[in-house]
Amino acid sequence: MEHPENDARYKGLKVNKGIENAPSLNPYLKKKVKRKEYTVAEYVDGILNGNITILSQAVTLVESSKHEHQRVAQQIIEKCLPHSGNSVRIGITGVPGSGKSTSIDAFGMHIIGQGHKLAVLAIDPSSERSKGSILGDKTRMEELSRAKEAFIRPSPSAGSLGGVARKTRETIILCEAAGFDTVFVETVGVGQSETAVHSMVDFFLLIQLAGTGDELQGIKRGIMEMADGIVINKADGDNIEKAKLAQSQFRNALHLFPATDSGWIPQVLTYSGYYKLGIKEIWDMVDEYMAFVKKNGYFDYRRNEQAKYWMYESINEALKESFYLNPEIEKQLPSVERQVLGSEISSFVAAKKMMDLYLESLKR
Ligand code: GDP
Repeated sequence: MEHPENDARYKGLKVNKGIENAPSLNPYLKKKVKRKEYTVAEYVDGILNGNITILSQAVTLVESSKHEHQRVAQQIIEKCLPHSGNSVRIGITGVPGSGKSTSIDAFGMHIIGQGHKLAVLAIDPSSERSKGSILGDKTRMEELSRAKEAFIRPSPSAGSLGGVARKTRETIILCEAAGFDTVFVETVGVGQSETAVHSMVDFFLLIQLAGTGDELQGIKRGIMEMADGIVINKADGDNIEKAKLAQSQFRNALHLFPATDSGWIPQVLTYSGYYKLGIKEIWDMVDEYMAFVKKNGYFDYRRNEQAKYWMYESINEALKESFYLNPEIEKQLPSVERQVLGSEISSFVAAKKMMDLYLESLKR
């Protein structure tokens, strides 16, 4: 008998048999969450066959900071490299509110309509701080996110700007190998990240708004100098006249800039992303540019320069990582930093001390 209280001697008392507690963990969960692990060859095959699920998983490996993931990712990239390079890469920038998402949706649908396949990637500098990334979010591009010819991927979120940019560049390679012939790299028009985007695209498009008449003041000169095309959004309704005025102001301003390396004269157009006006003209401009730089050799020259740039960037990043993740450096650095802050030793002596320690540790 399980419960002595149920003995016939104890009248009026009955204890029921308990039931087993439900498990606090869902036994099926583990099975469901676990992703299928592919071999490098399976990843590469999947990507080359345009399998979006496998492409997404490969991009996740590229973005991962785990050593093992990086090792596999680099092998996949290497195998995809011979199948990459044959796309038009376009950087798109503009301050928040300038209409990037609305415009990318409109540009993207136009491009798809012409029979192309489009990948939308992003470099979001804010992700470094917030650890969450906003750019490239599918919900911001309503039509495009439903199109099977489009692949939208938010900005990688971890690491330095250099690290984030490298991951995006590697993702371009995988997307091209998967058959995407047009790649957008989006960024917020606020500074440094433009340089990173510029170093991985063929055409740099700057989205602007017509404003109060002094709009030229607010634009970082460096960003305008990088632009191959400036497009003024929201040229609709009452805003058309203002947009036209801004267009001529930008054109005048561009005259003051030095000639571009490509020999291309940056164009200024007006359009409306929301009402889909003037979209074709923007794409005709990009086509014209591509034909122009392919003919004069600048296209190949720039892609080579970019490849060189990224080689050095990767070396720099690897060196930095090797230094800062060195266990002896990790141990010593805080106290040396305190010594510098306390003016006990100079920055240069401290740096030398750390470098010596690092180089010594490599010999061991
Ligand atoms: P983002 O922050 O640069 O991605 O900008 P959004 O695409 O989210 O657009 C910001 C706001 O501007 C939204 O309220 C859009 O509806 C509006 N907008 C975008 N494009 C146009 C346009 O061509 N015309 C008008 N009138 N409004 C637009």
